[in-house]
Amino acid sequence: MIYTCVCKHCHKVFKSKIRTLCCKDCREKDEDQLDDIVQYLKLYPNSNALQISEELGIHPYEIIKFMEEGWLGEANGTFSQLPDDREI
Ligand SMILES: [Zn+2]
Repeated sequence: MIYTCVCKHCHKVFKSKIRTLCCKDCREKDEDQLDDIVQYLKLYPNSNALQISEELGIHPYEIIKFMEEGWLGEANGTFSQLPDDREI
């Protein structure tokens, strides 16, 4: 099974054996951002996407995507209710 995926960073369309939102070129960037978010949530477990976004300079949309991918299970903010503005 091969999935057609769209990278959330560069919006490139690519094929992958796993369902993912990040292409190979952006994987490193993705892991850096994810590390930062996880660290931040350890310090401030009740943060929402806007606070994380302001502190780390990561677009809230990307933080929501990490959540949807299941990386931020401990987070219980209200960010999934943010409007979906993709403009950066
Ligand atoms: Zn990419």
